Amino acid sequence: MIRLRDVSFRYEGTARDGAREAVQGGAALRQLSFDVPQGGFRWLLGPSGAGKSSLLRLLHLAVRPTSGRMEILGVEMDQARRAGLARLRRRIGVVHQDFRLLPDLPVFDNIALPLRLQHRPEDEIRDEVLSILDWVGLRARAAARPPQLSGGEQQRVAIARAVIHRPALVLADEPTNALDDQQANRLMELFQDLAGLGTTIVVATHNDGLVRRYPSHELELAHGRLVRDG
Ligand code: ADP
Repeated sequence: MIRLRDVSFRYEGTARDGAREAVQGGAALRQLSFDVPQGGFRWLLGPSGAGKSSLLRLLHLAVRPTSGRMEILGVEMDQARRAGLARLRRRIGVVHQDFRLLPDLPVFDNIALPLRLQHRPEDEIRDEVLSILDWVGLRARAAARPPQLSGGEQQRVAIARAVIHRPALVLADEPTNALDDQQANRLMELFQDLAGLGTTIVVATHNDGLVRRYPSHELELAHGRLVRDG
């Protein structure tokens, strides 16, 4: 469950940045109020600069609201302590637009990271990672380092790492921009399966074709405001 009430967010320093101030009035997100039930799927839409990445940053707790109330997976941000936030972050899987893979670690170990953070036994980790590598079609690249992979392969590794530990919330920023249509469709089927199992999913995208093929509840931002919730 996600619940936002009058949440605004301003990047520190933006108020002093004359150019940005003129265009944006300083706030990247303005008075957002919406709920996403557990197991809900939301498209996050809006033109470049509308605030999609900023909202995803708030939801994966990389930044805190400047004002307003936010509850993520039953945890109220005002009351959350540092240790609680670290635990909460481990229940969230994120597909970053720039993938953020660790370049010196083999693909296998990149994907295994969330399971290792949970101190799962190595034989279990091996089974889980090999099975998701099969699913993303990259078992043969398990020993490769991310810089040796194509953009689409790196994006599939990032997706595998985001979902391997069955997080309660998955946040994905343009997760199909390096995928072909068939791979994008498979990803959507995975997201639908995960939502069916109770995972909340928010996907920011510009892929209009994909949104048309998989119509679902939309959150649309314009100039940092929520202009559509339905
Ligand atoms: P979108 O993901 O929809 O393209 P963003 O969330 O990246 O939109 O951007 C929303 C607004 O916040 C824009 O005005 C952008 O310039 C500003 N912004 C984004 N990232 C930063 C940052 N790190 N520091 C300051 N301002 C930022």
